[in-house]
Amino acid sequence: MIVFGPIPSRRLGRSLGINNIPPKVCTYSCVYCQVGRTTRMRVERQPFYQPEEIAEAVSRRVESIQAANESIDYVTFVPDGEPTLDVNLGRTIDLLRPLGVKIAIITNSSLMSRPDVRADLRKLDLVSVGVDAALDEPWHRVNRPQGRLRLDNVLEGLLTFAGSFEGELITETILVRDVNDGEENISAIADFLVQLEPARAYLAIPTRPPAEPWARPPAEAVLNRAYQIFRERLDQVEYLIGYEGTEFSSTGDVVEDLLSITAVHPMRADAVRDLVARAGADWSAVEGLVERERLVATRHNGRTFYSRKLAVRSS
Ligand code: SF4
Repeated sequence: MIVFGPIPSRRLGRSLGINNIPPKVCTYSCVYCQVGRTTRMRVERQPFYQPEEIAEAVSRRVESIQAANESIDYVTFVPDGEPTLDVNLGRTIDLLRPLGVKIAIITNSSLMSRPDVRADLRKLDLVSVGVDAALDEPWHRVNRPQGRLRLDNVLEGLLTFAGSFEGELITETILVRDVNDGEENISAIADFLVQLEPARAYLAIPTRPPAEPWARPPAEAVLNRAYQIFRERLDQVEYLIGYEGTEFSSTGDVVEDLLSITAVHPMRADAVRDLVARAGADWSAVEGLVERERLVATRHNGRTFYSRKLAVRSS
C-alpha cells in the first residue's frame, strides 16, 4: 500500500503516489483534510518505512506501468500525513533517482524551518507547498497546528527554501468559508507569495469530504475576489477547483488499487466505476469492501465518495 496509482492530478498530470507516512501522522489537523482528523500529532521527524522498501515498491510499479506503455509525469510523495516527518525522505529520494522519473512532493510547509527538511526537499524536481494563511489566527483555525509550531518560523523557512531551490516551486492555498477566507488573510498571503516567487500559485477549495463536515468552500464572490487579489500581485495564478477526472490507473487488482488510492485520495463514485471496469471486475468488489467496512461511502456536495476506513491508533 506504499505505492498507489498513477492517479490523475490537477497539478502534476499522471502522478504515481508514494504514501511514506502511516495514517494519520501529521503536524496539522486541517479542518478540510480529506483523510480525517489527525490522530497522531507530531513535529519530530522519525523513521517509518525502510527507504529500500519504498524504492523497491516504486521501481516494481514503474516497470509494470512502462511495460503496459502507460506514462507517468511524476512520482509524488503524497501520503495520508505530512511527508517531511519521514526522517528517511532524503535517502529515499536518492534511491528513486535512477528510475529517471521526475520526483515531487506535496507538503504542508510546517517543517520548513528545519535545515534538514529543506536539504531533503532541495533534491526534488517539484515542491508544492501549502500556504493557507499568513496571519496567526486563520492559520490556527484552518490548519490547527501542533502546539510547538510557529507561523513566523514556517514562513521564514519557506523563504529560505525558495532562495536556494532550483526545481519548480508551486503553492497551494485552500480556502474554507468563514475560516481563512477573510480579505485580510488573503491579502497577507498574496503579499507573502510575492516574496516567495513561486512558479504558480494555486487557489483551491475543499472538493472531497472534509475532516469537519462544516468546512465548506467560500462563497463564489469571495473566491473571485481572492483570485483578483492574487492576480493583482502575482503573474501565475490558477484555480484548482475542477474535477481531476477518472483516469485512475489499474494494476489489475481492483481491491488493492481501491484500498491504496482511497487511503490518501477519496474517489468519486464515477471514478471507482471506471477503475472497476478497467480492471475487468464488477461492482460486487466494491460492495464487498463496503460490507467488510474497509471502504466507507460518504455523500458530499450531492455526490458519493469512497474512502478507505483507516486503522489508526490514537496517541
Ligand atoms: S490536509 Fe495534509 S496537512 Fe492537513 S491534516 Fe491532512 S494530511 Fe495533514
